[in-house]
Amino acid sequence: MGTEFVYAQPVKIYFGEGCFARLGEVLAELGVQRAVLVCGRHFAPEAEAMAADDSRIAAVFPGVEQNPQLSGVRETVRLCRETGADAVIGVGGGSSIDTAKFAAAVAPNEGEALDYYRGLRAFDANSRLRIVAVPTTAGTGSEVTQVSVVSHESEKKTINHPAFMPSAAIVDPRLSATVPPRTTMNTGLDALAHALEGYWSRNHQPIPDLKAVEAVRLVLENLERAYRDGSDMEARANMAYASLLGGLSFALPKTAACHACSYPLSELYHLPHGEACAFTLDSFVRVNADARLEELCRRAGLKDTEELAARIRALKALGGLRTRLSELGEVDIPALAAACAAHPLMNNNPVRLDDKRLAAMFEALR
Ligand SMILES: [Zn+2]
Repeated sequence: MGTEFVYAQPVKIYFGEGCFARLGEVLAELGVQRAVLVCGRHFAPEAEAMAADDSRIAAVFPGVEQNPQLSGVRETVRLCRETGADAVIGVGGGSSIDTAKFAAAVAPNEGEALDYYRGLRAFDANSRLRIVAVPTTAGTGSEVTQVSVVSHESEKKTINHPAFMPSAAIVDPRLSATVPPRTTMNTGLDALAHALEGYWSRNHQPIPDLKAVEAVRLVLENLERAYRDGSDMEARANMAYASLLGGLSFALPKTAACHACSYPLSELYHLPHGEACAFTLDSFVRVNADARLEELCRRAGLKDTEELAARIRALKALGGLRTRLSELGEVDIPALAAACAAHPLMNNNPVRLDDKRLAAMFEALR
């Protein structure tokens, strides 16, 4: 084997139906005395009950929104400082986990969240609270990456820093049983995008590649089932595993053109993250089709990249996702293409794409 690589995966992963019940054991193993639990509104009653039950959960911040805001990070930091917390537990989709990561990296240090957001202060991987990530969607894969995506005013920023790496991830498929069909489809296609982008990334490497192939196979076999019947626990468990593998597929190689385009699409036209990634995913499968991608398709049980693109289009149609720019309102294609071309993740795409080529791609999606 002629390849040289450095591989690391520092997160301890607990996986299985019902394994969220092991949270107490996980906290004990990490030596956590006092934690702040961060979640969305839907989980608030359960979080309050957990806090009443376990004195180590010192406070709950149940206010995380779909595109997490810096204000939520600020509030979590305040709770951490007030309670002297040594850990933050994020329970929810990427939003809750990303809020928990950011707050954990700010709380024990000088300064406010905004200083770090603006780059006026630097994160320090050796000075942060412990992070326990509990995903309830399948998913962002945020439980195994050092990425946090947080918005402030009209800006949406992706920060990649070792200080954000969770200490432990608890992936319990049962927590995803009540996720509505539309979110199931959006987040499932996000997981597919992570696997494909990690695989075709310019920084791809052999161990994440293996995970990507399996993640693609599992999403294509299980996403439609989980979408049609949320109580199908086998499909939910396979999707939870696929999402975890998707996260591990891109944690080191990083994502590429599809995620680069997702940020302007979310900022300008308010598409949820998964839908924004899915918007260009089949287009980039065709742009990036090469011998390696054909091999992934065959190993994942598909005939070729054309079949992969068709399967993605069919899933988007099934989920009622928007697929044309005309569905997003007035779109200035040159401005959109320029914003996508300027995103740093675009440099990670195997095929170089300038704003003219991206504009031609978006024209075809008009
Ligand atoms: Zn994503």
